[in-house]
Amino acid sequence: MTIIDIHTHIYPKVSGITQGLPMTGTNLGRVRIGNRTVQFLPPSFEHSNSTYEMLISHMDWCGVEKAILMANPYYGYHNEYFVEAVQRYPDRLKGVALVDINGGKEAASELMDLYERTPLFGMKIETNSSYQTAPGRRMTDPNCTPVWACLHDSRQTVFIHPFTSDDLEDIRTLSERYPDILFVICHMGANACFGYQATPQAFSYLLDTAKANKNIYLDTSTVPEYFQQPYPYPAAQEVIQRGYRALGPERLMWSSDYPGMLNHATYRQLISLVADECPDIPSHHKDMIMGQNAQRIFW
Ligand SMILES: [Zn+2]
Repeated sequence: MTIIDIHTHIYPKVSGITQGLPMTGTNLGRVRIGNRTVQFLPPSFEHSNSTYEMLISHMDWCGVEKAILMANPYYGYHNEYFVEAVQRYPDRLKGVALVDINGGKEAASELMDLYERTPLFGMKIETNSSYQTAPGRRMTDPNCTPVWACLHDSRQTVFIHPFTSDDLEDIRTLSERYPDILFVICHMGANACFGYQATPQAFSYLLDTAKANKNIYLDTSTVPEYFQQPYPYPAAQEVIQRGYRALGPERLMWSSDYPGMLNHATYRQLISLVADECPDIPSHHKDMIMGQNAQRIFW
């Protein structure tokens, strides 16, 4: 089975923003958020960073062939580091670009410049983090239009981590408005579907949107975190299998959300969640979800 992980994070240093506060890596997996210190990664991440060497070692250790480096303002802006990683491992890594979506036309030209000058592709939006500097703004606000136009014109992929039902509405609007953008919805709909403020209908709404819009894909990472169950994460399996029953195997792609998810599971367990568990999905369809879809779409 070819395994491709479409959602991994690397950073030479945590330098992000959350809850309106700066985040800075310290040591032994810990991070300062404002005045608080939190255990952000397992203590074995001695310098509280996530290097590409360490990612490649985890991939080799567990049989993961390729990975996509996922950007996120939560960890900071690390485009240069992504470029370095991709240049070092061009056959195994691809990197997602990050600009400030609130930057209007300037952000769009910055993004275009990254596409022209570097191997980076796509764009990441994690609504909670992306709008820390512009509270209340939505993905459909006119200010964001230049970035959407750039993504559409260059037929790029946007990876969205939604937090609210407004975000799910926006995903419906935008995926209809921009058929040439490929939308990957992170974590099967994430906080918007499984967070404590999510409505019971939210996940069905997202699946209906995806059924109607063939440019929407779902990544299977992080779901166990929302249910706080031990391995083999029965609630997470059910979410992934519901996605499979609604959309078929073509539009699900396995991923880990490494290294943050190592707080909840081993890398092997995150692979097994789909590769060995999820009994409703036949093995030839698991092959598609675990790697074949990603190979076709991104490589
Ligand atoms: Zn992530």
